[in-house]
Amino acid sequence: MSAAAPADQLMADLQYLASDKLEGRKTGSAGAALARDYIRQQFLAARLQPLQQKFSHPFDYSAGFSTRQGENLIGVLPACSEQAPVILISAHYDHLGVVGGKIHNGADDNASGVAMLLALMRWLSPGCRPYHYWFVATDAEENGLHGAKALLASQLWMPAELALVINLDMLGRHQQQPRLYWFGSTRLSGFKDWLVQQQLALPLRWRRSEGSRYIRGKVDWASASDHAPFYRAGYPVLYFATAMHKDYHSPSDDWQAIKPELIERVFQTLQPIILHLEQQPPAWFLAARRDGS
Ligand SMILES: [Zn+2]
Repeated sequence: MSAAAPADQLMADLQYLASDKLEGRKTGSAGAALARDYIRQQFLAARLQPLQQKFSHPFDYSAGFSTRQGENLIGVLPACSEQAPVILISAHYDHLGVVGGKIHNGADDNASGVAMLLALMRWLSPGCRPYHYWFVATDAEENGLHGAKALLASQLWMPAELALVINLDMLGRHQQQPRLYWFGSTRLSGFKDWLVQQQLALPLRWRRSEGSRYIRGKVDWASASDHAPFYRAGYPVLYFATAMHKDYHSPSDDWQAIKPELIERVFQTLQPIILHLEQQPPAWFLAARRDGS
């Protein structure tokens, strides 16, 4: 484990993943492979365990008439009890690569989410927890949430074993007011009320599914990122993001524009939320299931 303070380590992870060396981490590229090497090293340093003897979980997906390959990484932090269900924390590591001769580094989208996933992993990993934690760095999000869809279709778990999906995508930028937006299961009984009562490091703003105004234009929060296939399948999901900005999907989404104090506050906000969630019994999560659509 690194001795660096969480905020410094968060920025170090983010800067590496968003460096020109990784050339925008496009699915199937050498830069994406470097990103995986880095994430795998962090999994090993935190003593996460592989799933079915491997961290790497490749998948095929179709793009037009061709079949392409992606690769999710899954690291497991085992629960104290083998029978415990799983809390899955996901963040996509892929981005757009080189477009029009310009590297799209995707510092906010989504080196910030992967850095947060690694920070949460380091924080949770000493000892065992009430739930198994699966830390999943997903691939091929940008061209259609393919990593998340492959994960859902993988049958790596029995349906009752997956309690919750927490998805992290874009956590490093804010508009005038720093806020943490969240979308997800209002069916988690009492959760929204609990959130409102907390004094957290960042104010939380709930986003409904369709048509929420999100600075520029409309974003369908239910389908915006890798939580979407799980949400449609009826699993409880929580999606966290900070703000849309002018550098979204542009070559100027660089680490220099990331706000270190913001990303540290996101970490400090997510910690008590996760501690609260993992204290809830499995039946609480099961009761929040919907029929899939
Ligand atoms: Zn993204």
